[in-house]
Amino acid sequence: MKSQTSKWTLLSLVMAVLAVSIALASGPLFEAQPGDLASFSAVAPIDAHVHLYKDDLAFDSLMRRLNLRILDICVIDDRDSYAKGLEPQRSDVLKVVHRTGGRAVLCTTFSPYKFEEPRFAQSTIHQLDADFATGAIAVKIYKVMGMEMKSKAGKYVMPDDPAFATIYKDIAAHDRTVVAHIAEPDSCWQPPNPDSPDYDYYKQNPQEYAYAHPEWPSKAAILAARDHLVAENPKLRVVGAHLGSMETDVNQIAQRFDRYPNFAVDTAARVPYFMLQQRDKVRAFLIKYQDRILYATDLVVMPKDDTEKALAEWNKTYERDWKFFATDQNIEYGGHGYKGLALPQPVLRKIFHDNAVHWLPGIMGKP
Ligand SMILES: [Zn+2]
Repeated sequence: MKSQTSKWTLLSLVMAVLAVSIALASGPLFEAQPGDLASFSAVAPIDAHVHLYKDDLAFDSLMRRLNLRILDICVIDDRDSYAKGLEPQRSDVLKVVHRTGGRAVLCTTFSPYKFEEPRFAQSTIHQLDADFATGAIAVKIYKVMGMEMKSKAGKYVMPDDPAFATIYKDIAAHDRTVVAHIAEPDSCWQPPNPDSPDYDYYKQNPQEYAYAHPEWPSKAAILAARDHLVAENPKLRVVGAHLGSMETDVNQIAQRFDRYPNFAVDTAARVPYFMLQQRDKVRAFLIKYQDRILYATDLVVMPKDDTEKALAEWNKTYERDWKFFATDQNIEYGGHGYKGLALPQPVLRKIFHDNAVHWLPGIMGKP
């Protein structure tokens, strides 16, 4: 009996090894089915751009189930009552960080508005260094630079203003990353167009609609200032949020990648813009620059938002995006169908995991 058992055990072991080898060779581990997030979870996905301000165990459960980590981002905008200052959002994010055992990681920010006050840079650096000590791995800068803030002399203040120079040096010296949401989609400067992915946003936020503010700087001028900041700080990693606001043509992004080795982009809220461009062109771009693109969503959950609704939205977003990047199935967007990119698995692993690890050191927890 004993020898019979071990013979069978050995045989089943050989069979199991064979089965796994066949499975790995043909790759069904990563063959996503509609509505199936198992292959998404298998790459240990990182969402590099989320605004989760609600401390609820349900998000921790979701992140564990999906094997997901997120960069949880603070943003200061004096036109928004919750985002007027760093508090309460920094405390809210730190609660989420704690609740999720570090699956959510803090991206802090600073208020740029008082840039003309004496000691502005010093006190900002003081605040950022304290945030780094409490675990912040990145610093967000926001489109109010270039599209809202003015100097006392009445000039629009750009992200490369000398007032911010020592702050960027400090972030680089601490080996932290800048997440730069600078400028907006092209449609922000264009007349209302119901076919644009951003049509509803500007309808709801007319104060952010550049088309209604012809006195604002042009998008080209704002992106030139952003590029200048990237060029001036070669030791600073800069992740351009929302495809670096170059959402309509991947060639514009490629041009920056070729010029600035310290520049990457996240896909937050701009995945549909990949669908709207020529499929082969986008696919070739993602394969060529597979080390420079970070998967991200821009999902937002305010402290008073409904948890169930938010969870449904998160699941739906990850399902749609994974289906688009990982399979060649049809994806519905805005009443049209788009064929998924079916990116090779090593490329998926970079976009959904490795690149965040590289560009956002600390995203996996303390080294
Ligand atoms: Zn955002």
